[in-house]
This record gives sequence, C-alpha cells and structure tokens, in this order.
Amino acid sequence: MQSHQLTRERSTVWSALTERELQDVEDVTAAYKYYLDHAKTEREAVALAEAMAKGRGFVPLEDIEAAKAADPSLPLEGTKLYVKNKDKNILLAVIGSTPLTKGCSILAAHVDSPRLDLKPNPLIEKEQLALLKTHYYGGFKKYHFANVPLALHGVIMTKEGEKITIALGEDEDDPVFTVTDILIHLAKKVQYERKTPDVLKGEEMNILFSSIPDLASSEKERVKLFALKLLHEKYGITEEDLISAEIEAVPAGKARDVGFDRSMIGAYGQDDRVCAFASFSALFELGTPERTSIVFLADKEEVDSEGNTGMRSDFFSWILARLLALQGETTPLALMSTCMHSWALSADVGAAVNPTFPDVHEHNNAARLGYGIFLTKYTGKNGKYNASDANAEFLSSVRTIFNNANVKWQIGEMGKVDEGGGGTVAKFLAKLGIDTVDCGPALLAMHSTFEVSSKADVWTTKRAYRAFLEHSR
Ligand SMILES: [Zn+2]
Repeated sequence: MQSHQLTRERSTVWSALTERELQDVEDVTAAYKYYLDHAKTEREAVALAEAMAKGRGFVPLEDIEAAKAADPSLPLEGTKLYVKNKDKNILLAVIGSTPLTKGCSILAAHVDSPRLDLKPNPLIEKEQLALLKTHYYGGFKKYHFANVPLALHGVIMTKEGEKITIALGEDEDDPVFTVTDILIHLAKKVQYERKTPDVLKGEEMNILFSSIPDLASSEKERVKLFALKLLHEKYGITEEDLISAEIEAVPAGKARDVGFDRSMIGAYGQDDRVCAFASFSALFELGTPERTSIVFLADKEEVDSEGNTGMRSDFFSWILARLLALQGETTPLALMSTCMHSWALSADVGAAVNPTFPDVHEHNNAARLGYGIFLTKYTGKNGKYNASDANAEFLSSVRTIFNNANVKWQIGEMGKVDEGGGGTVAKFLAKLGIDTVDCGPALLAMHSTFEVSSKADVWTTKRAYRAFLEHSR
C-alpha cells in the first residue's frame, strides 16, 4: 500500500473545483447572502424559509391531512410539506417511499442568534436622552454590540391583538441605533480595570433611541414623551404595547464578501443560518427520497434549546406523530420505533483555527477555513460533560456517504481539551434515540457581530446535506 493511502491528508476545497463548480459556489453563496440579509431574526428566518418552500410546492401539513381525510387512497410519496411553530420554528419535510417507521433522515439547524432583546419596559429617559433598556440573549462578548449601527427587528402586539412587524435600520434611508461605549479619555477608572466579559456590563447595554424633547409639555421626561409620540404616529402604539413585544437589536447592514479574492463571507448570524440555508436548499433539490427527509429549523439553541420553540420542546415529536398518522400509524410504539431507526445531522457550525489565536486548538483535531464541512463527534466540555457522542457505526456511515459524494470533510473538536466548549441541539435529538452527529462549516469570529465563513465551505455543506438526505439505508 502506498503511504498516501495509509495516511489521511486534508486538502482545501478550492484545490479541486472545476470551472462549473466555481460558478456554482458563487451562485449558491449569492442566494445565501440574500437569506442572511433578509433573515436577521428567528422569525424572519422562518418566514423566509416558508416563503421559499411555498414557491417550491411545499404545502402546510394541515392541507395534506385534510386531503388524506377526504381521500384515504391519496398517495403520500414525494409529498412536500411544512409546519410552523409559533412563527419561530419550522419543520419542512419530503415524504419518502418507505414507511416512516423504518426511520427518517433529519437535518436540524437553528435560526436564533446572539443579540440584544428589548426589556419588557424598555423606554427610559436619562440625562435628557431616550434609551432602550436591553437584556442580552445568548453568549457573546457584549462589547461587540457597542459603537456599531444596530437595527430593530421584531413584533409588537397591541392590546387589540393586532401584530405590528418592524424591521428598522436596514434600508439606507432608515435611522439606525447604537450602544455608546465610554470614550477612551475618561475610561481609565471606570472601565480599564474590568475583566473582558465586563468591558460593558449587561445593564450598560443601553440603546440610544432619541434626543428631541416634547417642547409643548411641562412633564419631567420630555424626551421620552416625544419618542412615545413618534412611536404612536408611526405605529399607533402606546408605551403599554411595548410590553407585549419581542424586539431584537441586531447589527444593521448586509452580508459582504471578505478578502481580496472574495473567497469569504462576513455577516452577523451565520451561526447558524448557514446551516439552515444549506439544509433547506438541499431539501428543495430532492425528488422522492427513500427515507422521509426532514429539515428542522429550531429556535432557542443559543439558550440551551429551552421553551416551546426550542429543540427540547415536544413539537418535533408531535409533528412526527402526525406524519405517522397519515400512514395509519397511531401508537406510541410507532413513534418510538421511527426515532430509533432515524438518523440526524445536528447542522451547526464549528470553530475554524484563527491564525492570531492558534493555540486554543489542538491542530490535528481542529477545523480549517475552506477545508470542507466539519464533523464534531462530541461537543460538551471537560470530560465530555454534557456531550452527545456520536456512535462509531453512525460516523462510519456518514463518512462513507460524504466520500461517495466526493464531499470534502474534516473532523475534530472545537478546541483543546479543557480549553472551553459548547453544546448544540444534538443531545436533544439523541435523547429520542436518533443517531446524531454535529456537522457544519467552520467559522472565524463565531458569536461576533461579523462572523466569517468560507464560500467553499458553504457550498460544500449544501452538497454534504443533500448527499445525506439522498442516501438510502
Ligand atoms: Zn450554533
């Protein structure tokens, strides 16, 4: 045997691309950048995924259920359907040719990202300026969100039950908002002795909202009053309506090509919209798969998958049960059997080696930008605490699928042992008995306001996911 057959060499995706594939990389990543620009929050990510699915013939599950009830002989193979969960989480599926109880293939990505959420009582006046109080969501260096233009996205429910959707700060003509850091000249005592996580503290993440006072009023907080007048003029809302609102402050602006060779993409929220995009794009290309193919876009991954829109919620099992019912299977045994025979990719990003901070990685087990999709056998921290550890048998199948589809892949861990760690939705799928492994592109500057991906990795991820869904067991 030759030495190159004995050792495993990693090579960059760029080294093996044909002219046609290079064009495909550009086409796929152009669509990806559009998704990033129009899906800044979990609600927008779900709405856009739904709109794109509808355009490709996907219909609400309720419609399929009604049609099947009217005509029990209706064939289901190849049916494309979706179900939304409270506008923050969506499941898309293509029904396969084998019974669901034989198992399905699942891609589970998440569409929430770190951000600043407005507090229930957000609007205050301080030093004759109106501010919005925030509570940070997820894990990130809070100071990243200071001194950058922010946009406000979300919904406000009025007391009449009307839903007002806002996205303010993305159009060039829109105003933007910002969190103002202390100037360097006066920072010495108040800030320079602080540890990194406290460079800006949670209660200091105040968004500058407005500055003109209501000159006609003699009340104390005239700037706040004028802001409320403007809000009422524009949206017809009062201060109390802000209580039943979910408004997220996110970095304003569009995804950009990065690098002189334009080989990378810089944008907010690529963790994990890159995997969400690659997952539904792969699903959209399927004909009738052998196994039912499911794409699950979860909310709340950044806060440990909690709540009724996170991966821990029973929503996923409920939809599986409804799909089984369409095939005449209504017992708990059928649901469990389906899970036990299913497999999933927990479609989430990895951490690429940052050349400025290489020492946090163990290089033989670290992800490199542009070297293809990154498999993470286990996540967690310390002694694999809290990890979902993929079985060797399942990993063998996944690597064979990728090799047969000529997909470039790498495998390893996030960082050195005991250096830190993290978790994904993997363990909540695994809990159901589903064989699961983490698998997605690696990013630089993950959980920052400008995460960086490789176009080659985005393209590879879509191909990898498609090969996984198309594989028959
Ligand atoms: Zn993630």
